[in-house]
Amino acid sequence: MDLSQNIKAVQEKIAAAARAAGRDPGEITLCAATKVQTDETIRAAIAGGIRLCGENRVQELTAHLEAGAYAGAEVHFIGHLQTNKVKQVVGRVALIHSVDSERLLRAIEAQADKLGLVQDILLEVNIAGEESKGGISPEKLPGLAGLAVSCPHVRLRGLMAIPPVSTVSGANRRYFSQMRNLFVDIMKKMSDNQYVMDCLSMGMSADYEDAVAEGATLVRVGTALFGPRPPVRAAH
Ligand SMILES: *Cc1c(COP(=O)(O)O)cnc(C)c1O
Repeated sequence: MDLSQNIKAVQEKIAAAARAAGRDPGEITLCAATKVQTDETIRAAIAGGIRLCGENRVQELTAHLEAGAYAGAEVHFIGHLQTNKVKQVVGRVALIHSVDSERLLRAIEAQADKLGLVQDILLEVNIAGEESKGGISPEKLPGLAGLAVSCPHVRLRGLMAIPPVSTVSGANRRYFSQMRNLFVDIMKKMSDNQYVMDCLSMGMSADYEDAVAEGATLVRVGTALFGPRPPVRAAH
């Protein structure tokens, strides 16, 4: 496996999917989903052109930050975030993708207030209505978005979704399209607030080209860059 070749290939596919959809490839950011990767691999990815890493687990985020592994790139938190771990994330990442409850939102607001900063966030939408997954329902989204824009230490930048793992090509297009509609809707509703809503985070290794075709501005890609992940490690 050649990491820098994989990075180039994914970047080229993103650009091709964008052009095919009549979009400017510069509108789309590639986020490398670095869960289970080592400091060394993360450094190699950044040397190979990655400018943004996405972490899933607080423990890994903390370890990589302490090691300085993200030097030269930004880092986002893309995994499920427990309220009791907010302190380890707020102010340490440029964007939290996974805000999906009032409780979590209020905890982030409180911590950002305490630190005297403004934390950028996305709201995660459970677009396929999967019981096993995080994310707020589309029906409850406007309420949570309204609360987010009323929080002075939080800046709502957009939406994120993790649709079902797609096995059939094109299977998730309808979910991506629904997400885009929700995104446009929320942007309109929030227009009074002069918020910069510029991020629609959707698409992973199996379906990022479809996500780009449907309007994603950020795709989160792991396997297509780093190869298959080893089985999840126990606490280390
Ligand atoms: C792991 C992960 C990804 C990337 O998944 P791949 O299928 O390996 O590309 C994207 N988003 C989130 C939230 C993830 O946890």
